[in-house]
Amino acid sequence: MQVFGVPYVNTFLIEDGPGLALVDSGLPKRAELLLAAVAALGRTPKDLRHILITHHHEDHTGSLAALGRRTGATVYAHALDIPVVQGDRPGPPASRPNAFSRLTERIGRRMGFTEVEPAMVGHPVADGEVLPIAGGLRVLHTPGHTPGHVSLLLESRRLLFAGDAAGAMFGRVGPPLGVYTEDMAEARRSLRALAEVDFDAACFGHGGFIRADAVAAFRRAVERLDQ
Ligand SMILES: [Zn+2]
Ligand SMILES: [Zn+2]
Repeated sequence: MQVFGVPYVNTFLIEDGPGLALVDSGLPKRAELLLAAVAALGRTPKDLRHILITHHHEDHTGSLAALGRRTGATVYAHALDIPVVQGDRPGPPASRPNAFSRLTERIGRRMGFTEVEPAMVGHPVADGEVLPIAGGLRVLHTPGHTPGHVSLLLESRRLLFAGDAAGAMFGRVGPPLGVYTEDMAEARRSLRALAEVDFDAACFGHGGFIRADAVAAFRRAVERLDQ
């Protein structure tokens, strides 16, 4: 698996036999950067067969339409987030705007990151579904940050892609940032549910990669919620 940090947000390339799968698509205008990573693995754009979207935010779906055109990959997302991904409904504004969100939105507008081209989702995913990708990629519905947020468990590698269901800034796992989280109580419930899942390593939409004993870091985060 290649962890591929496009600036600000992480995306992940998973080798799937002769093909590749991508978890999240980064900000807008990042398609060529991601395809350069595909080429660095000795693969062509057509080898990228699956693009899994953890949730509808523009830093995770921004380059989806462009990548879809270049690769023909099947796009996967949860039914509850599909209307925003496909442009049928606008995404909600920041739940609790603050100085940080106003600054990031101003930078985002200036750089064209807020103009996300809609993209079609070919495969709506459901909680508990095991996708036949890389030996089995289990879908865990982890709502709260957005209603249709999903985390993905690569069972053969005991690796969790948490998306934005949890953050790992400075190596410490915690709930997602409140400012962009639609339902914080539900996001906390999802964090508790993830702490009950069996995995060793964890990747996040933002922040670092925990290689070992990641579930213990999730359990510590749940303990802090209870304090
Ligand atoms: Zn997000
Ligand atoms: Zn994000």
